[in-house]
Amino acid sequence: MRITTVEAIYPDYQHVAPSWRTDLWQIVVRIETDRGHTGYGYGGGGLASLQIVNGHFRELLTGRSFDSPEEIASIWDHLYAESIPYGRKGIAIMALSGVDLALWDALGKAEGVPVCALISGTRKSHIRCYATGPDTEWHAELGYTGTKRPHRSTGNRSEGDDLAEWADNARSLFGPEGLLMIDTYMSWDYETTLAMAERLEEFNFHWFEDVLTPDHMEEQSALKDAIGDVNLAGGEHEFTVWGFRDLARSNSLDIWQPDITWCGGITAGIRIVDLARQHSVRVVPHRGGEVWGLHLIAATDCEELAEVVTGPRNGPTDIVWSGAPVPRDGFIDVLDRPGFGVELGGDIP
Ligand SMILES: [Mg+2]
Repeated sequence: MRITTVEAIYPDYQHVAPSWRTDLWQIVVRIETDRGHTGYGYGGGGLASLQIVNGHFRELLTGRSFDSPEEIASIWDHLYAESIPYGRKGIAIMALSGVDLALWDALGKAEGVPVCALISGTRKSHIRCYATGPDTEWHAELGYTGTKRPHRSTGNRSEGDDLAEWADNARSLFGPEGLLMIDTYMSWDYETTLAMAERLEEFNFHWFEDVLTPDHMEEQSALKDAIGDVNLAGGEHEFTVWGFRDLARSNSLDIWQPDITWCGGITAGIRIVDLARQHSVRVVPHRGGEVWGLHLIAATDCEELAEVVTGPRNGPTDIVWSGAPVPRDGFIDVLDRPGFGVELGGDIP
């Protein structure tokens, strides 16, 4: 089938769940084909990303045909190569992610199968979730078996004690088998991370996430050797298999967390998972409970663990996609619908 229309839009978000940033700058990409199928993708990069899709990728895409994952991969390679002068990482690849996901969605719809079935014959359909957000009690009430606390370093003397108090309560809520995790959003340094690992050792954390920045791979590698049992996780700010190849060489993380709407879409995700297998690294995609990452988890060697970002209890949120599976009792189902199984809808024009 041939690509006839390419359009990226930036939704008018009203209620973004409070997080590290007020906005994730997610864009929507819509691709139409001459066979009447419309593919939707979710990318990053906000208004700047629209310029890349509508101002550059569109002319490269219009008229191209694709009927297989391999042909989507060659389109990906072409867009990547053409955007090298301003791309390789960051917004250009966030834009490419949205295009890639829209192509996979359109192909799934054309074939009448979910994206996970296009990726491979293996299928996980009922996937364990963990919840990210500030309300740990609510996560336990909802039936999750894992919880992740967003945390920015306070630099205060009491930081370790405050986290220990939280962890003590979380451990009693989630029991000895529950997964406790903390994401410091790059706000610790080497010494702080080591000190916190020691202070929190008794609570048996599953991972510490994004303790250092992506530019501190060497320090993180040294940390990985020094830190003991807790896993180091990260990678949501890394892009494409080339970026993850550098991560692999640095041997700095136990768990990779590519964001499928930022790192280059499903095409990049498949390559990253293959690379991870070669290096015995586990992959738990960032925001893997959203359909884009969920189909990669379902069809590949990713851990059976999907992140659900809950925001605060009773907090208003924008519904961008309709038809997405809803987690229940700590699990989420991969629905047997063509493509990613969602349509643009809900609150967003
Ligand atoms: Mg994170």
